[in-house]
Amino acid sequence: MPTLADLLARETRDGELYDVLPDGRLRCYACGHECPIPDGAAGVCKVRFNEGGRLRVPWGYVGGVQCDPIEKKPFFHAYPGALAYSFGMLGCDLHCAYCQNWVTSQALRDPAAVAPPMHASPDAMVRDAVRSGARVLVSTYNEPLITSEWAVAVFKEAKGAGLVTGFVSNGNGTPRVLEYLRPWMDLYKVDLKSFDDRHYRQLGGRIGPILDTIRRLHSMDVWVEIVTLLIPGFNDSVDELTRLTEFVASVSPEMPWHVTAFHGDYKMDETPDTTPEMLLRAAEIGRRAGLKFVYAGNLPGRVGHLEDTCCTSCGETLIARTGFRIQDYRLTPNGCCPSCGTHVPGRFDLQFAGQMASRPVVIRLR
Ligand code: SF4
Repeated sequence: MPTLADLLARETRDGELYDVLPDGRLRCYACGHECPIPDGAAGVCKVRFNEGGRLRVPWGYVGGVQCDPIEKKPFFHAYPGALAYSFGMLGCDLHCAYCQNWVTSQALRDPAAVAPPMHASPDAMVRDAVRSGARVLVSTYNEPLITSEWAVAVFKEAKGAGLVTGFVSNGNGTPRVLEYLRPWMDLYKVDLKSFDDRHYRQLGGRIGPILDTIRRLHSMDVWVEIVTLLIPGFNDSVDELTRLTEFVASVSPEMPWHVTAFHGDYKMDETPDTTPEMLLRAAEIGRRAGLKFVYAGNLPGRVGHLEDTCCTSCGETLIARTGFRIQDYRLTPNGCCPSCGTHVPGRFDLQFAGQMASRPVVIRLR
């Protein structure tokens, strides 16, 4: 009986994001680990491996696909109301104990995570996305950086069909992978999980590459939104949140920051859930740090105006939301406040065409 790793080893092709080192190992640049991989071995992510001096990378399958409201990614300043055709592969370069997508992200590490791959092709996926009414196509669920060659193949097809593309990622990138993605990618959500390198090392990473990725994406004019899952006792100290939000504000005070509520999951099911009061306190810290767009997520209807986009000049509510549902949309066609004309940063269509769906729609690949 072949293992999942055996099955996935067949679903590969030669990669593009690596160099051959003088000692014959391959240096992979798809994520911040930059693994030096000897012949016959795999990188930390377990899905990219050295086979006879060629780097084999995931290709030709998905571990999950569905249409989500773009607000679920979450992107609040990019094509509000759009449907985001969302696909993922398997595996991750980190191993967060609280992962909410652990069935796909930890499929190669944890025998309890069972997520069989489904065959897919870029043109069939894009046809499906268009047929579903999606405006945006997003690589998400597992860590998309480790499957960047596949994402670019899908995004090239998507661009040909006039779709917007994006990553929902932990942000553990490298300059090389970001240059590789940039021509085909418009939006990027980074999970900034902590502002403490010791915490990142517990999760299997380092903070440096993530901060560098956020700066680079912004300088490359990719639309970036940041999410921090607020975990009581892990990353919720005033000091850590102050440093985290001051960093985001130093890149751009207009970069949206979503602070979202944790609930027990995977191996962290005894930590208490985040309360609305905790989110409000964190949001206040973000505002004090200078951030103009702070949102509180995962507790719909319980965080006051922190689900809404408000004008930074006159305070007018411009996009009212409850959870993923848009209740009211008042931006002008050129993305401004109708009362005072202040521009709202982001990527907006000239006309709001209504919301396609306010909850996920499961897709069957055809
Ligand atoms: S994607 Fe990251 S973890 Fe995987 S082989 Fe490449 S550098 Fe290593």
